[in-house]
Amino acid sequence: MSVQVFGLPVSRGVAIGRAVLVASSRVDVAHYFVEPHQIRGEITRLAVARDLVCSELELLKQEVQGDTPAELVALLDVHVMLLNDEVLATATRQWIEERHYNAEWAVAAQLDALTRQFDEMEDEYLRERKADVEQVAERLLQALARADKACMPPIMRHGTGVGSAQGDATPLVLVANDISPADMMQFKGSVFRGFVTEVGGRTSHTAIVARSLDIPAVVGAREASRLVRQDDWVIIDGDAGIVIVDPSPMVLDEYRFRQRQGHLERDRLARLRGRPAVTLDGHRIQLLANIELPGDTAAALDAGAEGVGLFRSEFLFMNRAGELPDEQEQYEAYRAAVESMRGLPVTIRTIDIGADKPLDRMSVNELKHDHTLNPALGLRAIRWSLADPDMFEGQLRAILRAAVHGPVRLLVPMISHPSEIRATLDAVERARARLAAEGIPHGVVALGAMIEVPAAALMLPRFLRHFDFVSIGTNDLIQYTLAIDRADEAVAHLYDPWHPAVLALIASTIRMALAAGKDVSVCGEMAGDPDFTEVLLSFGLRSFSMHPTQLPTIKQRILRTEMAALAGLADTVLAAEDPQQAGRASVRRLGGQAAPAA
Ligand code: PEP
Ligand code: MG
Repeated sequence: MSVQVFGLPVSRGVAIGRAVLVASSRVDVAHYFVEPHQIRGEITRLAVARDLVCSELELLKQEVQGDTPAELVALLDVHVMLLNDEVLATATRQWIEERHYNAEWAVAAQLDALTRQFDEMEDEYLRERKADVEQVAERLLQALARADKACMPPIMRHGTGVGSAQGDATPLVLVANDISPADMMQFKGSVFRGFVTEVGGRTSHTAIVARSLDIPAVVGAREASRLVRQDDWVIIDGDAGIVIVDPSPMVLDEYRFRQRQGHLERDRLARLRGRPAVTLDGHRIQLLANIELPGDTAAALDAGAEGVGLFRSEFLFMNRAGELPDEQEQYEAYRAAVESMRGLPVTIRTIDIGADKPLDRMSVNELKHDHTLNPALGLRAIRWSLADPDMFEGQLRAILRAAVHGPVRLLVPMISHPSEIRATLDAVERARARLAAEGIPHGVVALGAMIEVPAAALMLPRFLRHFDFVSIGTNDLIQYTLAIDRADEAVAHLYDPWHPAVLALIASTIRMALAAGKDVSVCGEMAGDPDFTEVLLSFGLRSFSMHPTQLPTIKQRILRTEMAALAGLADTVLAAEDPQQAGRASVRRLGGQAAPAA
């Protein structure tokens, strides 16, 4: 029977496919497809691990016999039996043979299927046997990890595509409790057409990466792992935040139609690529791209971006098993981005690590259990950089060196204290002086500060004295103004870009920056949300930075806007009791198409 799971829409579009459930085992499980010629080897790995666990259990039995209760010995016997039982041994092998899952994934998938069966059992005694199966599976997973400390990422990117990975062209969607931003990066070019997570917020970094990959996604779908089963047909409605499990043929047809419409609309918008973003009354608007890796510049140019407004450099530092890129490696990456933008400006943000964006594969769930009580308020972004002067200097030197190859702007995240302004400027100056003393070529960079903490917005004149430009990071500005964790689905309903305090801080930042003759842009998700285009324009914003995929939609919006007609919009919205309602009503009156309320 068809069921619906509700979550938060974070990446637009419709994905239809069979569900691949990433089971949440206590052991860190790698998930990847093996090539057909590797299947036999994978089955052997599984068999070796099983033999290992069997001999361990036999040994344990011998050690505990004598002074141990007979029940415990019997339990060990049960575990040995389970190891060799068809429901575990044969079925796990089948996941490898038929689905081409790696051994760990196969064990986790079968454990998942079995625990569901146990949960549905009437008989309490049998239901309790679930724990035995879980223990055996965990032993197997541990044995696999010990036998082969593979360095595969948890969800391996692979170019084989569904066809060769699965023997047919069945589209797949991923359903997981949680995916870290670092893991999400692995999805580029993967077989998954969409994904669903149980945790996360609309501007969690996992969601942001999903949007940048242009994969339909729903996060915060709390019931997903319970209601979706391995292999179920699933529709992911990334516009409405709904996951439809086992849809009827009629619903499937409807969504297939919507999918086709979406593709047509995308093709239509792509034709705007070469057109400058100019309002009906001739105001030129700058549209920039947010990127995560140098290779993303291709998509930025393809979408018609006039530069990179935010290069989230921290993604260069992820998935490296703790080994950070040195100055030279960073320089090469920044240089590649700068050169590929062919003279257009590239804004490189210094590393913004911490909070829901750890360096390793820690996911939001794991972070919640991390020892740092409030990671979003902890050692994050510029605080992290200033706490590690050598690492920071390496990054600054790499950025300054890349500036030889084209226009570079250096952007500092989460800066909020006067002492941080001083320390940052000193660090930049020191890096510059050392490069000069060493005779290493380096360029001039414009210095910018991200305004993403209310303290920074409230003391903006001080920033404007020291920096060449500011960029408003609305994702964090909302989080820190409203005290709402942007990655926590439990408070996602309170994460509100329309909050009067948020709008007031954005409006005053834009106004003050323009009055001081400094460049100001918005690089948070609000810049790419068509619901805010007119409001931000009415605040005076002329530079928007967003994921390349969002750029055509915003451009179309701008092309249809008459700036003169927006004259009273800022005052109306800022004074309104309900800014969202007032903003939408005004835009509708002006003939814009306010997006339906999320
Ligand atoms: C922001 O906070 O708005 C921003 C652009 O930075 P990030 O999303 O990477 O924190
Ligand atoms: Mg931020």
